[in-house]
Order: sequence, then structure tokens, then C-alpha cells
Amino acid sequence: MSMLDHRYETMSRPELEQLQLERLQALLARLRRNVRRQREKLGDLRVESLADLARLPFTTPEEMVESFPYGLFAFPLREVIRLHSGVGPGGRPLVLGHTRNDLADWGRLAARQLAAAGVTASDVIQICLGGGATPAASGYVLGAELIEASAIAEDPAHVDYQLAMLRNYRPTILVTTPSNALELARLLERRRVDAQSLHLRAVLLTRPVDRAERESLGAGLFAAVRCNFGVGEILDPGFCLECEQGRFHAQEDHFLVEEQEGELVVTTLCREAMPLLRFRTRVACRIARPKCACGRSGAVLEPGARLDGRLAVNETPLYEGQIAEVLSHTPVAGRPFQIQLSERHVVVRVEMSAELFSDTIWFIERLQREIESEFLSRLGIEARVRFTQPPHKTPTSFPGPG
Ligand SMILES: [Zn+2]
Repeated sequence: MSMLDHRYETMSRPELEQLQLERLQALLARLRRNVRRQREKLGDLRVESLADLARLPFTTPEEMVESFPYGLFAFPLREVIRLHSGVGPGGRPLVLGHTRNDLADWGRLAARQLAAAGVTASDVIQICLGGGATPAASGYVLGAELIEASAIAEDPAHVDYQLAMLRNYRPTILVTTPSNALELARLLERRRVDAQSLHLRAVLLTRPVDRAERESLGAGLFAAVRCNFGVGEILDPGFCLECEQGRFHAQEDHFLVEEQEGELVVTTLCREAMPLLRFRTRVACRIARPKCACGRSGAVLEPGARLDGRLAVNETPLYEGQIAEVLSHTPVAGRPFQIQLSERHVVVRVEMSAELFSDTIWFIERLQREIESEFLSRLGIEARVRFTQPPHKTPTSFPGPG
């Protein structure tokens, strides 16, 4: 497998730490000069060595949504040429801005990741990312362009159309979500399409999957399966890369990584528009620095679960409390409910009141549609609403479709 930036990817630890220190000092100067909030938090703290990092203040996801939209920007808006919106705590919006240099860096880091997965200029790379993964698609396009692979970024609304694209364009690399890859593998099986008749060499998944899932997708699509570990607020893709040993190496020339009480904390060292100092990612992670056979020196990350209970539907973050908030705008406000998540949608089971329960099927169905459209318009996610019987009362017939 090839390495795009040999010098940076294999840098010795002392050399890397010297580079990180210089970049951190420059970052602190930029933050003091351009971001009032950070200037106030930093006071007169100085950094003489990387050990001083521990004295610097954290940045939290809550601060990102409080400063929305431009409160954490370190560059004037006229120099910010790309904005990507995201979802933060409580479902409140957050934004990432990029200058021209930021986009160039993003392309470089994503290209390193693609190169590590064996992508070359001869590849046709199909990037199928929709829903909450849409911003990631631009990162993969930037990386693919740098490698000079032919990129097709399109998120087909239907997996049948995606199969047609695979046949028409004969991509050798597919970048997609684990759920989409699974749907595609199932479609091939259902249609009795021989996966070998497609030309896929590798499937690059947007998230880590376990070994069993990796093997079954690899067999179903007749391709090598590679994964990504990204943090939307930091950079996704490009924050780290998976080497041929199956390890996630942080791209440490651009990101300082720390483990704080089991949580991954990241400082963006080079970002111009919106640098983040000691950002608490709310993702559990172990950091190790073993010698890896791939030759890369970047820290090895073992990501774990979310620490803030954040869920995801169709790659769109979903926080606790958002379901109740949506329901509060409907006639079932305040009713007890349960949720069940699938990759593409959320099933919401609402316990009906005795009065609602005695209504006509027509009314119940209309209510169901009303609540479902509320989820789509408020959160941008697909919900399937089911009604359950109120306790201690057994009606003669069950009106909901169960
Ligand atoms: Zn490695």
C-alpha cells in the first residue's frame, strides 16, 4: 500500500513533537488575536513545551453551539469559502468553516487516507454519501481529485439506481456508509447478481464496523473493506487514516490527540477558519503509540462509544430529548413513548391516552402522518410512528397498525 506524504506520516516522535509545539504556539497566537472567547479563556497562559498543553482550557461541543454561527471563527468571513452545517448538543446547529488553505489541507489529509487504502489515479471512485454524511462527501472528492482518481459523487435515492451506476461507470472504489453497503450487498443477493461481475476492488466505509460485519460485507461485495474513523467537528474524513494493518493512525502533524478520562480530546493545529483548542469530542477512545508494521508514526486510536448518549439516524446525529421536543409540537405531547433505532429511521412507539385510543382509524392514521412529517421537518430524519395501548384498559379492537 502506498504512502502519500512519507515525511509527515513516518516522522520520528521528537521531530513530530517539535512540529506540534511550533504549530500549537502559532495557533495560540491566532486564537488570542482573533477569537475573543478564546482570548478571555487563555489569559496569559504560555506554552513552552507540549507538557504545558494540560494547562490550556478545553473547548466543548456546548461552546460550539453557543457560539453559532461565527463566534469561534478566527478568520474574517470574506476569507471563509466553505461552510458545512452540523448538529450539536440538544440538536442545536453548529457550523464548520473552511478557508482556501483549510480545503487544501482537507484534500491532502483525505488523499493520504485514500492512498493508504490503495486508491490510485487509475481508479474510478464512487462516493455515495447522503443524509448526515453529506459534508464528508466533499472531503472525499477533494482527496480523490488530489490523487487524480475519477470521482463520481452522487447519492442515489435508491439502491437499484446505485447498482445501475456501478454497472455503468464501473467504479473500482466505493465510498459509502455501512448501512448503504449492507443494502447493496443484500440487493445483489436478492437479484442473484454475481458481485465479481462488478469491478469493485475496495469499499471504504465512513465508520468503523466490527470484524464480522467487515468480513460479511467484503464477501457480499467481493471487495476489500476499509474503514474510517472521523469526528465531524474536527475533520471527517482526514482526521485519521486506516493503515493496511487495520489500525487508525491519527494524522498528528495536523491534530494533537489526548485521552482525558477515556475521552478523545483533539486540538486542530493548522486549521485557519475555525481552530479548536482541546476539543472534547464526547467519544470514548484509547490512544496508544505502538510501532506499526506500516511504518507510520501517528498515534493509534481505538475509538469506543459516544459518551453523551448521542445517537444517529441516517448518519444524522440525534440527541436525547429531541424526540420529546418534536412530540411536544403534536397532539400526543407529554405522552410516554419508546424509541427503537435502525440505520435509516427511528421507530417511535407512543402510548395513547384512552380518549385518543377510542378514535377512528382514519383519525389515528392522520395523526401518525402528522407526527411523522413533524420529525422530517424538525430533525430531517424519517420516523415511523406506532401507537401502543394505554395501560389497564383492553379495548375490543386495536386501531393502530401496530
Ligand atoms: Zn499502521
